[in-house]
Amino acid sequence: MRIHYQPQIDARTGSVMGVEALLRWQHSEAGMISPAKFIPLAEEQGLIVPIGEWVLEEACRRGKAWHDQGMEIQIGVNVAGQQIMHESLLPTVARVIQQSGIRPALLDLEVTENFLLRQPEITIPKLHKLREMGVSLSMDDFGTGFSSLSYLKKLPLNTLKIDQSFVRDIGEDPEGTAIVKAIIVLAKSLGLEALAEGVETSEQLSFLRTHGCHQIQGYYFSRPLPVDELPDFVLNQAVEISFE
Ligand code: C2E
Ligand code: CA
Ligand code: CA
Repeated sequence: MRIHYQPQIDARTGSVMGVEALLRWQHSEAGMISPAKFIPLAEEQGLIVPIGEWVLEEACRRGKAWHDQGMEIQIGVNVAGQQIMHESLLPTVARVIQQSGIRPALLDLEVTENFLLRQPEITIPKLHKLREMGVSLSMDDFGTGFSSLSYLKKLPLNTLKIDQSFVRDIGEDPEGTAIVKAIIVLAKSLGLEALAEGVETSEQLSFLRTHGCHQIQGYYFSRPLPVDELPDFVLNQAVEISFE
């Protein structure tokens, strides 16, 4: 297994503000297996907790090395529902921050709404503890789960990630387009950042910018990149968009 990193761009400056760590499994016989296939399997087998711990360790170690090279980018790590429920989450995050030396604010944990709301009495206090540790929090795939807006205001989030299914609808489907606008307004009103995922076209990008969503992730800028290709991208990207 290895990790690829997908750049997240601040469309106001054109610079890379962060990356999302995405797991890749190169199987000796089956070839590249998609995480959409093996993550649910790992969850079933109870393997997602140790795998998730490895991703966190590896991404933080790598992130700290980039930070030391002058790249001030946030490192986004997906946290599965089982990891949130597991008692090891807080001690693991604390240990990884300590061992890697990463600045906690440059670590962004991505959580999804379904799990949070299944046992909110356990998950919500944990999220507050993570924020007290200085870690940043994003709600992944926002709008696709059983969003309860009354919980949303209780969650100590920094960012709502607009799911790619809505981004795909921009300019194609009026309802989906309306939902994107509404999420951007909702994020703003709650004092949160909105980040759009799965941005593939200049039309989507310009719509998002017009409506005030400046954090962009998607193939339009870059696919998830292998570790050794990321620094070049970070260093060259700012120049390219600023002359747009
Ligand atoms: P996700 O967290 O929603 O990650 C975004 C997915 O969208 C990634 O798929 C990414 O490659 C893909 N993507 C990014 N930009 C575009 C675009 O412009 N167009 C399209 N069509 N797709 C785009 P990927 O890497 O296959 O990962 C799938 C899912 O697997 C992730 O969805 C996440 O839920 C899960 N996953 C991946 N790595 C991890 C991990 O380390 N831990 C956990 N718990 N889950 C992970
Ligand atoms: Ca994610
Ligand atoms: Ca997502």
